[in-house]
Amino acid sequence: MNEEKLNLIINHAKRYGFIYKSSEIYNGIKGVYDYGPYGVEMKNNIKEYWWNYMVRYRENIVGIDTSILMNKKVWIASGHKKKFNEYFIKIKNKIYDIKKFIFLVFKHIDYKKKYRYIYNKILLLYKNKKFKLILKKLKLIIKYKKLLYLKNIKIKKINLMFNTKINSFYKDKYTYLRPETAQGIFINFKNIINSTKMKIPFGIAQIGKSFRNEIITKEFIFRTKEFEQMEMQFFIYPGEEKKWFKYWINSRLSWHYFFNLGSNNYKIKKHTNLSHYTTYATDIEFKFLNKYKELEGIHFRKNFDIKSHIKYSKKKIMIYNSKIKKKYIPYIIETSLGLDRVFYSLLCKSLINENNRIFLKLPYFISPIKVAILPLIKKDKKIIKISKYIYNNLKYKFNVIYDDKSSIGKRYHYQDSIGTPFCITIDKYSLINKTVTIRYRDNMKQIRYEIDLLYFFFKKEFDISYFFKREI
Ligand code: ATP
Repeated sequence: MNEEKLNLIINHAKRYGFIYKSSEIYNGIKGVYDYGPYGVEMKNNIKEYWWNYMVRYRENIVGIDTSILMNKKVWIASGHKKKFNEYFIKIKNKIYDIKKFIFLVFKHIDYKKKYRYIYNKILLLYKNKKFKLILKKLKLIIKYKKLLYLKNIKIKKINLMFNTKINSFYKDKYTYLRPETAQGIFINFKNIINSTKMKIPFGIAQIGKSFRNEIITKEFIFRTKEFEQMEMQFFIYPGEEKKWFKYWINSRLSWHYFFNLGSNNYKIKKHTNLSHYTTYATDIEFKFLNKYKELEGIHFRKNFDIKSHIKYSKKKIMIYNSKIKKKYIPYIIETSLGLDRVFYSLLCKSLINENNRIFLKLPYFISPIKVAILPLIKKDKKIIKISKYIYNNLKYKFNVIYDDKSSIGKRYHYQDSIGTPFCITIDKYSLINKTVTIRYRDNMKQIRYEIDLLYFFFKKEFDISYFFKREI
């Protein structure tokens, strides 16, 4: 069922120009995707929604756009070089990550009763990232319980950063493709302080590509090697972390809820499996197909990153607090969201099949195309003239499309499939009474509307400023 729905989504995304497999004509490349004409529009709408909410409408957050390539010392200081690793286990021709491997080993023994204690202990070790110890214990169990099937295993520790070579006439140098956008923010923290009027507490936000050399990519665009992140680092006074942590969890949840995908599809999960830079962390999980999985991370990074960059760069990037006349390193609350995962969450819940009618019930403000202008009689020059007039008037205000190809049924079907909320049809009555038909995507209701008032009609339909005013 799940597999079926996933295939439906993948096929729909390809057929209607949202997402294609990268390098498909060469049999593709695992875990990498391209966004098509409607995919890129939809992505831009998500970005705009995030940027407006996180940056544009707030006085205490500024944006930044940092480079993907950075001095490799950044990744030594950030801890990624040493600790951004994962263990993988190869059994015959299958590769498992540690969690899957634990389940596999315990599947073969009576862990629900006799070995429950050991099982729980191993899970605890997993939560604490004691991977080496886990592997040692699992190997012992395999030996002791004579689990022949699991005897010949190969274990590999892999750093998830992509290496990249920087050419030189003399000696080539190396760096990494960034595995998170956050570090570009930290290393520019002092630049922002010096070049803007921001004062603690304030945030720096960024949208950009990140790269992780994931061995096990899965579930379409859920886990890929190249993806986009929308991250915001909020710098605060030490001691105020609880207040801000709570604030950002609630604020981010409101942002997600506004997609109207069902608030019961979101869950807050406290992180026990902490990454090397976090002190405490919470995930906003989403029920993608039938399982809750991480959508966004809210992390309290304490002063780990800035402290580490001070140590490695030997630069003074501390803040002076005039009240207490002391220098200090601010604490950081991070909100880190995968753009592709938001995209996927929208696809999972919006692809509707109602009485054999397939349509993409995207929130209006996310739909790639807002209005389709469809002249009913292609050969009638007067109808074409009015249709073009409407198109030319609306195109500077909303993303609209003009389509006079194929039957009206097929045109409606195409617009439904790409999630266009409204279709306008222009017919011979349009010449007489200057009205057109507006068709609603979700219930196919049709109304007659005056051509001169179309702009105001759509302006109202697509306006989400009330949400920002309520939330910020
Ligand atoms: P996961 O546990 O799913 O690997 P993570 O805890 O490593 O995620 P973070 O490092 O906190 O993820 O990254 C922040 C966000 O970036 C995640 O919540 C997710 O939305 C997104 N993200 C992380 N890795 C990937 C990936 N390989 N593909 C797509 N999105 C990703």
